[in-house]
Amino acid sequence: MSLGAGSRGEEAGAEPGGSAGLLDAGLLEILACPDCRSPVAQDGTWLVCQDQRCAKRYPIREGIPVMLVEEAVDPRQA
Ligand SMILES: [Zn+2]
Repeated sequence: MSLGAGSRGEEAGAEPGGSAGLLDAGLLEILACPDCRSPVAQDGTWLVCQDQRCAKRYPIREGIPVMLVEEAVDPRQA
């Protein structure tokens, strides 16, 4: 009696630590840092200003980017 490889489950759809869902690429393209007008890139549930001197992080809440300077996290002030 050989158990062999046993039963292989179906591929799990869930990813560990699952991403919060990527924003639409077209949406990302039109978004810009409201402080310095630089493009932003998604980092999990944050949008990060690509300007090295600014580098503010804007939260994405329930899939909605909050592009407000008042809501941004400034890494230099944290
Ligand atoms: Zn910026």
